[in-house]
Amino acid sequence: MSLNVSFSLGFLLQRNTLGVTYTPTVAQSGEFQSAAISVTIYPRWYKQISAEWSIPASWGNCLFNVYFGQTNDGPWELINPTPITSTFLTENISRIYSIYTHGFYIVEVILLGQGSIKIRSTPTTWQNTQNRWVALRSIEVQRREYILLSKFVGVKSYIFRRKTYGKRCPNCWSVSTEQIIKDHCTICMGTSFEGGYFDPAPLYVQYDPTPNDRTKTYFGVLEQNQITGWTVSMPEIKNDDILIRTGDWNVYLIDKTADTELQSVTVKQMMVLTQLGKNSVEYNLVTRGLPEFPQRYV
Ligand SMILES: [Zn+2]
Repeated sequence: MSLNVSFSLGFLLQRNTLGVTYTPTVAQSGEFQSAAISVTIYPRWYKQISAEWSIPASWGNCLFNVYFGQTNDGPWELINPTPITSTFLTENISRIYSIYTHGFYIVEVILLGQGSIKIRSTPTTWQNTQNRWVALRSIEVQRREYILLSKFVGVKSYIFRRKTYGKRCPNCWSVSTEQIIKDHCTICMGTSFEGGYFDPAPLYVQYDPTPNDRTKTYFGVLEQNQITGWTVSMPEIKNDDILIRTGDWNVYLIDKTADTELQSVTVKQMMVLTQLGKNSVEYNLVTRGLPEFPQRYV
């Protein structure tokens, strides 16, 4: 039997009608991504996450790998130890997360009939969707809010995402008791993970004025250190992240967040901020390569 051995990526769309297996002649170094793999995620908070996916029937005999990542950009962690044949997977890595965090999943299809070429789905999470009419308006709401922030009321700030996983701190983490055993650690800043926080992301925030509110008590003068602020829906802000305001270099701990939503999709994030003292260990973050911070103070 003679075979047509010309090969292109078109085979993904139409199967060879003779039912004959091709041996691809292209290099298999790269990973392909295809939106034809449709993935649905079913979260069950604090217990498990189920992922279900489907692929075009023409892809033939396949095996699957499922990857988990905390952002839609990875890093990706393989969930199943060996490739699986079913199109359904339940995992409990997500048990450690709360309903406030998102996890992303990628399904990798190994096309056994096509020389084990691997194709990945786009990163998928349990996203709520708006109808088109509302989606267009929430884009417009955010566009106007961003102009308001960046041109008028916002202050350039940096958000540091707190680490919740990774290598433990070599200085203050006790492996035997699984506890932090030193205070004011400058390596992990009390988070117990080396570095403490991820690299900062710039954003604009409107801050409410700091109240000039002093209460005299029998143990001294008490000054209020909480204010509120807001920003648009990106970057996503979580409790315990650190916000640094350029200019006066105030350092705030995110204490509480409340979102404004349109059909359950965030368009605005409001935050309650607790100002930290200049002698707090988190204050060291301002010297961590923020472009606006005067170098003479580093
Ligand atoms: Zn430490």
